[in-house]
Amino acid sequence: SRKVRELERMALLDPLTKLGNRRYGEMNLAGKLRELKRYGWPFGVLFIDIDNFKIVNDTYGHDAGDKVLRIVAATITNGLRSSDIVSRWGGEEFVAVVANVDDEDLRHVGEKVRMLVERSSIPLEEGDRHVTISIGATLARKKDSAAAIIKRADALMYRSKKEGRNRMSM
Ligand code: GH3
Ligand code: MG
Ligand code: MG
Repeated sequence: SRKVRELERMALLDPLTKLGNRRYGEMNLAGKLRELKRYGWPFGVLFIDIDNFKIVNDTYGHDAGDKVLRIVAATITNGLRSSDIVSRWGGEEFVAVVANVDDEDLRHVGEKVRMLVERSSIPLEEGDRHVTISIGATLARKKDSAAAIIKRADALMYRSKKEGRNRMSM
């Protein structure tokens, strides 16, 4: 698509998932934060981490792991609106910036994404497999820095891991 080529040109593309990379995610987050401060446009952040992904790699191999990453990336994107932006933040971590939401909306969106991933089949040579994600969800505040939002969302994601994975904390 045109968007993919543009991101590629600017070195903002993650070639595996075709999502924006972390640099892109950081730029987008900074922009959204400026809009919140200037115009009061609210947004939320979902910090998403695939559960037990190392086991997928160890059991089925790195190529299968890559396939899981592509499918999870597409599934997350499908669960969001076109005004939302998901980027590949790290190895098996994604950050979604969800536009124009309150607490309740963000909870719904996060829960929907979690459920979509849980339900999607990943066709591997060994048969269909499933993966789950843990999510940390938080609304941006006017006094937030980008780093502060990410830190809060990441800590909430970590809480989801501790409490058993395949869940969202907010
Ligand atoms: P947790 O539920 O606690 O998140 O466990 P985890 O196994 O998902 O987390 P951990 O950080 O232990 O492992 C992440 C793995 O992701 C290890 C790394 O090799 C793998 N990984 C990172 N980037 C890629 C990639 O681009 N492709 C593949 N196949 N694997 C990757
Ligand atoms: Mg991780
Ligand atoms: Mg993980």
